[in-house]
Order: sequence, then structure tokens, then C-alpha cells
Amino acid sequence: MFHAYAAHQAKDKLTPWDYPKPELKSTEVEVQISHCGICHSDIHLIDDDWKMSRFPLVPGHEVVGIVTETGSAVSLLKVGDRVGIGWQSGSCGTCEWCLAGQENMCSRAQPTCVGRHGGFADRIVTSERFAFKLPENLDSENAAPLLCAGVTVFSPYRLYQVKEGMKVGVLGIGGLGHLAVQFASKLGFETTAISGSPDKEAEAMALGAHHFLSNSDQSALRSKANSFDFILSTVSASLDWMPYMNMLRPNGKLCFVGATGGSITVPTGMLLGRQKSICGSNIGGVKIMNEMLEFAAKHQVVAKTEVLPMDQVNVALDKVRQNKARYRMVLKAGGK
Ligand code: NAP
Ligand code: ZN
Repeated sequence: MFHAYAAHQAKDKLTPWDYPKPELKSTEVEVQISHCGICHSDIHLIDDDWKMSRFPLVPGHEVVGIVTETGSAVSLLKVGDRVGIGWQSGSCGTCEWCLAGQENMCSRAQPTCVGRHGGFADRIVTSERFAFKLPENLDSENAAPLLCAGVTVFSPYRLYQVKEGMKVGVLGIGGLGHLAVQFASKLGFETTAISGSPDKEAEAMALGAHHFLSNSDQSALRSKANSFDFILSTVSASLDWMPYMNMLRPNGKLCFVGATGGSITVPTGMLLGRQKSICGSNIGGVKIMNEMLEFAAKHQVVAKTEVLPMDQVNVALDKVRQNKARYRMVLKAGGK
């Protein structure tokens, strides 16, 4: 049996729950979990915000652990390898997107915790293609959040060709945002952390931000009209997006990675007159995941974490819900 923590209905507290070890397919590996980060998407799943959750639900998709068993056709990994697993656990492998290394765009993409069970557990099974060997110089607890938060914020900088010297705003300095600030500054962008939490200013600057802007102060936002080439929104709630559209320079982009569930309405004149655009980004495929891990290892981009034993999962989830995590809660498997 695998020993996990599960929600049995929407908005439930998690409770210990065992399920039978899934049969290992030929291309799958079994991983003994050591750490698992808590992404805000786990909260959306537990609350069934996206109306796609399946219960019992074992959340957790920022997994680090050791390969303990390999299927008969596994060739990329061996028992004993340290790997990380993110949001995605499978894809068709044959469509144009999979062949281009953008498996995250595959119409048959398989999420790690929808229709299968995730990383708030002692073990997990996944496809070998989505278990990534981790660079040796990254600690497991600080690297775990790279597997979802890290790739999600690194990928749009590449996808939308954000270039050195450009002015980039990172909106929301949580799990995703604090990594987005680090990647942005290491990529040579002039980086502004935009946050509603004044106590995050000093840490945002220490993480590499050049400027800090409070988004609870509307006049401060107005004063930054026409200032940014790229604003990456990581907030998990709906906001009035017009101030951020106004903050873009010509050709600027407002890019959503935060899953607000809301909508955005802007005057079309704003899109054509100043050639601004609104875009989004969804985790990242195998190619960008490997590029991100290599970049993170080289530049020591890692998460600032607070580690709790896995049996404290509900305490950790509450901290995320209350925006009290600094900056990623990580669960440590294997006891107290
Ligand atoms: P998080 O750690 O909770 O951080 C979110 C941050 O957004 C908070 O720290 C806060 O930053 C800001 N925020 C929260 N509520 C707000 C509100 N009502 N008004 C204004 N700002 C608010 O969450 P996360 O793990 O980084 O995830 C962020 C979002 O990204 C979630 O919706 C998650 O589902 C989504 N996500 C998307 C992808 C993808 O592939 N696109 C992947 C992973 C996660 P300040 O304190 O600085 O204001
Ligand atoms: Zn996530």
C-alpha cells in the first residue's frame, strides 16, 4: 500500500489514506518521496475551484524522491536516481506538441494529481519522461518547488522572448513570484516586485528585485504608467487589471500564470494603438524543464522554504491559504 494524505470531498481537511500500489507500466517508475512542495494549485484542487478534481484527491506536484523501481522499458532512469516530478505525469508522446518538447500542450496531457494520486504520500508512480534527474548541487527541499513553480515562471520568459535589459514586473510575491523575481534578475531583466505585502520588500530586494512597488496603493500604480515591457501575474485572485495594462510600454505584454478563474476586459484600442497584448503560460514541457533546472543549478535559483513533516499537512495548507508562507511550504516525508 502507498501511504498518502487525501481530501475526500471539496474543501475537506486532508486525512491519512492508503491506496494499493498501482501496477507499474513498462515506461513508469516508482519513486520514494522525500519532499513535496505545496503549490496554490493544490489548494484550487482541494477546493475544486476548477471543477475537475477527483476525490479521493491526493494533492502534491512538486515532488522530490528516489527511484525505487523501474518498468521493463525504462531507459532514462535507474534505481537510486534522485528525481523531481511536477504538475504533468504523462502525455501522448506522438503529437506535434510532444515531438516539439511542448508536452504541456498535448491534448492528452496527464496531470499528476487529477485521475492519479500525487505527492502528499510516501511513494508515487509516474512516467519516466516526467521524472527529471536533479542537478547534484540543488538541495531537495529547496529544489522541490522548482518542479512546478520554477518551470511555470521561467517558461514564459523564454516563450515570449523577454530579453536582457527589458523592464519586467512580477505581480504577487508568493511561491511562484519569489522564483520569478530570482529568474528575472539572473536573466538580466530590470526587475520590479509588485506586491500587496509591505513586509516582503526587503526579501524581494534580497532575491534580486531592483525595485519594489506596492499594489495596494493605486496612485503608486498610476505613477508607473508606460513602464514595463512584461508583467508576469502570479496572483491567485481576480484583480482590476486595467492599472497593469496601463503600466505596459508599447509592445508590452501582461502574462498570466496565476489561475485567477476570472476574466479580463480591455478596450481594443489599447491592444492596437500601443500594440499591447495579453497572454498566458501553462507550466512547461520537458525541454524547458531541463533548461530551467540547468539554469537554476548554475545560478543557484532555489526556493525559500519552510519545511514541515507531512503529518502537519493541514497546518501547512492553512499557511498557504492565509498568504503566510515565506515563500513555499514544503512537506518532508518519512516521519516527524
Ligand atoms: P501563493 O504562494 O499563494 O502566492 C500567490 C501570491 O499572490 C500571494 O503571495 C500574494 O502576493 C498574491 N495574492 C494572493 N491573493 C491576492 C489577492 N486577493 N489580491 C492580490 N494579490 C494576491 O500561490 P502560488 O503557489 O505562487 O500560485 C499562484 C497562482 O499560480 C495560483 O493561482 C496557482 O494555481 C497558479 N499556478 C499556475 C500555474 C500555471 O501553469 N500557469 C502553475 C502553478 C501555479 P503578495 O503578498 O506579494 O501580494
Ligand atoms: Zn503547481
